[in-house]
Amino acid sequence: SAIIEIDHLSKRYGSGTAALNGVSLKINEGEILALLGPNGAGKTTMISIICGLVTPTGGTVRVGGHDIRTDWRAARKLIGLVPQEIALEPFEKVIDCVRFTRGLYGAGPDEAYIEKLLRSLALWDKRDARTRELSGGMKRRVLIAKALSHRPKVLFLDEPTAGVDVALRREMWSVVRDLSADGVTIILTTHYLEEAEDMADRIGVINRGELLLVKPKAELMGEFGKKH
Ligand code: ADP
Ligand code: ADP
Repeated sequence: SAIIEIDHLSKRYGSGTAALNGVSLKINEGEILALLGPNGAGKTTMISIICGLVTPTGGTVRVGGHDIRTDWRAARKLIGLVPQEIALEPFEKVIDCVRFTRGLYGAGPDEAYIEKLLRSLALWDKRDARTRELSGGMKRRVLIAKALSHRPKVLFLDEPTAGVDVALRREMWSVVRDLSADGVTIILTTHYLEEAEDMADRIGVINRGELLLVKPKAELMGEFGKKH
């Protein structure tokens, strides 16, 4: 069943052209959906709206049946966002970052869950390290731990492998697959066809604010294949 329902969503920043133009999409519980498109296509705008960071110009979004405009408190509990930029407090300890974010969501302490989360992301041994001491891959995993701190059902990853090397890209893919195996619904944005192909169950192609098509990966790859 659909955990996110997006209906005729549009966004115009200031007097510019439409960053999103009437996008409709249902995202199923448990799937990995990749939003594939070039820079400026509207991918970040779309997930920023669903995550409550940008106000849409028109259309509706429901998360777990809750309209994000009228029922934002209920909707936000269900979602976590891993932003594109790595922004961590350099002197904060890993475990405190995660506790802090959990607090922001109004979730009470749950040390057992935080331990399980940090173990699953191979960060438990680094729990008392300051974030500035971590490698790039570990920092990205801390961002994921923060985004999952309140046990959301849906995780958004905005360009999770932008600017990272091949080894780290593979590491991120494996983390995402593990999370999906744990039952988290995943929506990621990417401009790499290879990444969408390797990770997603379903791929949505977005360009100039329009969702051109959404298809199961196997079907889409078949179509690309036909052209050659
Ligand atoms: P992405 O990396 O996903 O394309 P960015 O945040 O880098 O997203 O921004 C994408 C585009 O949006 C860029 O061309 C940038 O110049 C533009 N942009 C981002 N923020 C603003 C802003 N506040 N005002 C105007 N343009 C912006
Ligand atoms: P993508 O994530 O696919 O790169 P974005 O959603 O960042 O695309 O951008 C879609 C369009 O909206 C682009 O034309 C971009 O320049 C514009 N845009 C994005 N953020 C802003 C902003 N804060 N202010 C003005 N324009 C923006």
